[in-house]
Amino acid sequence: MIIDCHGHYTTAPKALDHYRARQTARLLEPGAPPLAPDFHIGDDEIRDSLERNQLRLQRERGVDMTILSPKASAMAHHVGNPTTSLHWAHACNDLIHRVATLYPLQFTAVCQLPQSPGHGLDASIAELERCVNDLGFIGCNLNPDPSDGHWNGPPLTDRYWYPLYEKMVELDVPAMIHVSCSCNPNFHHTGAHYLNADTAAFMQLLLSDVFVDFPTLRLIIPHGGGAVPYHWGRYRGLAQQMGRPPLSQLMRNVYFDTCVYHQPGIDLLLRVVSPENILFASEAFGAVQGVDPETGFNFDDTRRYIDAATGLSDTARGQIYAGNALRVYPRLRAWAARFASAAH
Ligand SMILES: [Zn+2]
Repeated sequence: MIIDCHGHYTTAPKALDHYRARQTARLLEPGAPPLAPDFHIGDDEIRDSLERNQLRLQRERGVDMTILSPKASAMAHHVGNPTTSLHWAHACNDLIHRVATLYPLQFTAVCQLPQSPGHGLDASIAELERCVNDLGFIGCNLNPDPSDGHWNGPPLTDRYWYPLYEKMVELDVPAMIHVSCSCNPNFHHTGAHYLNADTAAFMQLLLSDVFVDFPTLRLIIPHGGGAVPYHWGRYRGLAQQMGRPPLSQLMRNVYFDTCVYHQPGIDLLLRVVSPENILFASEAFGAVQGVDPETGFNFDDTRRYIDAATGLSDTARGQIYAGNALRVYPRLRAWAARFASAAH
């Protein structure tokens, strides 16, 4: 069984983007009411958008299921006001729900949250509850920087976030720490902002007792953990120097994915981080598309790197491909039951 824990619906039918354009244009009209989702997308359009893209890659690469969430760079929490983010989250999450309903074996759903910089998390908590309890979602993406590139909000370990963590624990769902676009021209979104955020989030967590307060909270840091595995010695040393617990304690609650797009990077990740903390992922149809001329295969064909990694036991490989995902996302149980009965 192979579960890809990190895919975005980057190929959604154009009506979604058109709605977003009209929604944000409305913000510029003085006195105009907010534009709630008003678009229609047919089932065949959804099927077509996936069959040629994500589903084709799943089949080619032997991936059984992808945990799918809305396009991360389009979350753009800095745009407009809390109502803007709420309407946009509804539009995107409802579409993900339709994908998971049309393809209950090939996709499970993770939601975006209607965060808005400078505002509280009540709407995010309500949307998480709606998605998990009413729509069967199994987790959420949490933007640690809803300003989208300016980092002027509280760190992930601030009590500002605690009500959301309480709800995540209650619902038994993890979050992937995932930024969106970057309004700051210093930080290219996928080349700098994403990896900066992964790295910054890890350091925030290292400095805090958030997992003392929430011992069962689970956070996935994507893109291989940013710069963290490469600088593992620095983080171990900083923790020691500052009287913080060893990293092994932090790694009871923190997981990295395998969205690292070359063999040496994956080899380093596997050597430094325990296989119990690594979840298979490709972010296919995401940040980096195209073929690596050095290998002849797509950069994001991460299964090849895991398969080729030496010194990885079959047990460890199985954990990375599926076992860890089933543990970190307990609500995958319903999908696993469907998968098992379909296989018989
Ligand atoms: Zn992503």
